Amino acid sequence: MRNPKSFYLRTYGCQMNELDTEIMAGILKKRGLEQVQEEENADLLIFNTCSIRDLAERKVMGKLGQLGRSKKRAAIIGVTGCMAMAKKESLFKKLPHIDFVLGTNNITDLDLVLDEVLKGETQKIKTDLKFEENLDYLVASRESKTSAHISIIRGCDKFCTYCVVPYTRGREVSRPGADIENEVRKLAGEGYKEITLLGQNVNSFGKDKPESKELFHDLLYRLDKIDGIERIRFLTSHPVDITYELMQAIRDLPSVCEFVHFPIQAGSDRILRKMHRIYTKSQYLEKVALLKETVPGVSLGTDIIVGFPTETEAEFQETYDVFKEIGYSVAFLYTYSPRQGTPAMRWQDDIPEEVKEERHQRLLELFHETSAKEREKLVGETVEVLFEKRNKTNMLKGRTRCWKKVIADGPDSLLGTLQKVKVHSFNHETLLGTVIA
Ligand code: SF4
Repeated sequence: MRNPKSFYLRTYGCQMNELDTEIMAGILKKRGLEQVQEEENADLLIFNTCSIRDLAERKVMGKLGQLGRSKKRAAIIGVTGCMAMAKKESLFKKLPHIDFVLGTNNITDLDLVLDEVLKGETQKIKTDLKFEENLDYLVASRESKTSAHISIIRGCDKFCTYCVVPYTRGREVSRPGADIENEVRKLAGEGYKEITLLGQNVNSFGKDKPESKELFHDLLYRLDKIDGIERIRFLTSHPVDITYELMQAIRDLPSVCEFVHFPIQAGSDRILRKMHRIYTKSQYLEKVALLKETVPGVSLGTDIIVGFPTETEAEFQETYDVFKEIGYSVAFLYTYSPRQGTPAMRWQDDIPEEVKEERHQRLLELFHETSAKEREKLVGETVEVLFEKRNKTNMLKGRTRCWKKVIADGPDSLLGTLQKVKVHSFNHETLLGTVIA
């Protein structure tokens, strides 16, 4: 097999996968390969996959099947990410034309596996469930020069009954705080203004390493001191682990944005129990109330699954009512799909697809209504925007501290800078404004 000179990397799924893609791109560039944007021009194709929903898996399986049928390519093909972990060797049976499978905890083995494939070894696979802390995060090759994702904890110990993550990413492993600080200092030196700390549950940071005596809020205090980093965001939080100390850090630290992704998943206690979310609706609401009281003006995001096995219309209505009561700024709304290997697979997926879709639509409509009202309130206000790039119509595009998209006219010199913008109108998802001096 000839030595590849170029590579194409495609990411499916969450920000964690996007970051893993950036690390793989860095490893390959270090090896002397050039990244290309068209798969037709690449000697090496890597598909960094997602397993969280059935649709995500079907999309990538369809894509890989199509590549096999076209057979005109001599490119090396690799599958990485959560689907690699979930399907392991079975991928070679369905897709005999793929050359290697690399799990979420084996990115660091990319060089090694490529060498083996180049020596003529076929169907190489590495899918360790345990993450070893030997990943060189500093090698990441990022597209944005303004905003960077930083991994602080990998894996999850919560075992929600519908979720594959504990099986595809393994148990929680926190990264040493000093390593995270080094990476953030390096990024600040390169001109990055915003960082997003990533983990399946960032609030568990440090709990697996009690000897470090550093929990998530301590890490925020450490990173807030770094000159040049104007904004710190974090994703995702499990409601049970959101502490009062964290709320105080959001309130008191200038760089920490007043936005918390606080996924409720369902509004009925019976469904929450069945999901193994380990909180009740009232415990969740108490935490939201404490957060709103501690951090005035805080915005909240959520994930919600509708049509979980046995969910009744009345139970869905509870989800709808909580959603209305809280008024989320950001919401990822899904219909339930059973995932192989999860405890929820033991229950019949008994809610008809049309009922799931109808509930999904009702919630979406509510979300569009509430977020339109929220944006309307901002008309006439001045917001702080970090401009990151230009959109298709050549306008500057950025986000507020609370994650709202904003577009405005202006010169290239404003890219990568924080600006005050007066909002004059809004459309479907975006605020439109004018940069003020
Ligand atoms: S908290 Fe639950 S939903 Fe989130 S990654 Fe862990 S198991 Fe999955």
